[in-house]
Amino acid sequence: MNKKKYIFFTGGVVSSLGKGIAISSLGYLLQSRGYKVSILKLDPYINVDPGTMSPYQHGEVYVTDDGAETDLDLGHYERFLNQSMARFNNATSGQIYYEVLKKERKGDYLGATVQVIPHITDAINEKIKYVGEQTDSDIVLVEIGGTVGDIESLPFLEAIRQFRLSHDPDDTLVVHLTLVPFVAGANELKTKPTQHSVMRLREIGLQPDALLCRSDRELPAPVKQKIGLFCNVRAEAVIDALDVETIYEVPVQYAQVGFDQLVLRKLGLNLRSMDISGWQNRVERFKNVQRDVTIAICGKYVELQDAYKSIIAAFTHSGMENDVHVNLKWLNTESLTPDIMETEFKDVAGILVPGGFGERGIEGKLASIRYAREHKIPFFGICLGLQCAVIEYSRNVLGIKDANSTEFDANSPHPVIHLMETQKSVKVLGGTMRLGTYPCQLKPNTKAIKAYKKSVINERHRHRYEFNNAYRQQLEEAGMVISGISPDGELVEMIELKDHPWFVGCQFHPELKSRMQHTHPLFRDFVAAALKFQSGIETE
Ligand code: GLN
Repeated sequence: MNKKKYIFFTGGVVSSLGKGIAISSLGYLLQSRGYKVSILKLDPYINVDPGTMSPYQHGEVYVTDDGAETDLDLGHYERFLNQSMARFNNATSGQIYYEVLKKERKGDYLGATVQVIPHITDAINEKIKYVGEQTDSDIVLVEIGGTVGDIESLPFLEAIRQFRLSHDPDDTLVVHLTLVPFVAGANELKTKPTQHSVMRLREIGLQPDALLCRSDRELPAPVKQKIGLFCNVRAEAVIDALDVETIYEVPVQYAQVGFDQLVLRKLGLNLRSMDISGWQNRVERFKNVQRDVTIAICGKYVELQDAYKSIIAAFTHSGMENDVHVNLKWLNTESLTPDIMETEFKDVAGILVPGGFGERGIEGKLASIRYAREHKIPFFGICLGLQCAVIEYSRNVLGIKDANSTEFDANSPHPVIHLMETQKSVKVLGGTMRLGTYPCQLKPNTKAIKAYKKSVINERHRHRYEFNNAYRQQLEEAGMVISGISPDGELVEMIELKDHPWFVGCQFHPELKSRMQHTHPLFRDFVAAALKFQSGIETE
């Protein structure tokens, strides 16, 4: 195929309609039909990336192999497409303005007045084309963050208008994701919000080619005709996007209504055959799962599950792998004190301490880890979770009462976790952590190597602190196993405990690499250990 095709996804009416899932699902279907696809997320905010934003503002920061801190939608793209994203798969207004301003200071604009049109819009279009070039894709899908009508997204929409103008009509497509609510009082599906949202889009000069209508029920033909008429779209291009039980059912539903076929027809591409039965069977099987297991997540942002998006996804994948529904019990470690642990952990078959920053809630995390260790409950510590496991073991097993991380006590006499050498001179916050993929060497006869079934692994990092080697020998002698280290032997990447059914900590973020069709081995084995623990209680 010679010409690249571009599909732009805009959102209308309200946010949270699942644009990221929609685009990932279509991407998966196109990929299943033998097309090479890539996805670009355009974020309208002025931050250069979400790395410095609070989880309350932005949810999870998704780290790519090449160390970019990106939008959490890239996680969906990777999980659905089973394809790694890179820095260029996410661009923000901040990045685009920053690049344009740097060029302006260098004099690259040769005295011109630098303006949104054409300089910013050109820079946006360069980003779009760059993804196609870098990935050798047949089809580039572009997700525009936010909702039509937002002031921030105007330059993106204008750039797309220009992009379309400079390409052949069947090289680009605009898909608008909208909401068609059912109003119970009137006993009717309402099309007006969609009409208004498309009106805004057309005012900007973008005529959608297809409308993806989120609804809790199928749209009857007259409703589709009405939407089509008011929005200047043929009724066949008004697509049902129905509520489904799991997000992994979305591609199956799209395939049923022929969304991918419509898209290919409009782009003038062949309808190559596809077989998604493997995916479909996995979803069907999961929907019929009868048993449950409960895992406690002891963290700080428990009321904000967007902060743990990839962890939640990894548990869904592990549930699929182990034929079990994993119930996540969210516990805020700020109020999780030892006296309530017996009650809180009574129905729990596994305890996970996720990544995090800052001192708030640390004591609760340490106490949860101690509880897991002493009661032989399967434990999984991720990044900060590993660091806390080392602090807990040092304090309660080695007897070093004031062992700490220098993140929480800069003058700790026993800094079992301390700042990495490379971090000591760092002055600016954005993009300066240890970020991206690093290799790790696993030790034989460990739970780690049993899970991965290979001795060198590559995992993604996002942290400033690390295990302090001055305490390595003492901890090892006391029963802590250093199960994963950097190839130069300097950095402790994984730990575990000998006399415990499953107690594993990792300095990296394995959740970022769990995919719908490839469950992460550590999550898979953690859930398997939890099931074993649960059956132990049941048979007691
Ligand atoms: N705050 C810790 C550090 O910077 C852990 C980071 C994390 O959990 N991602 O090392």
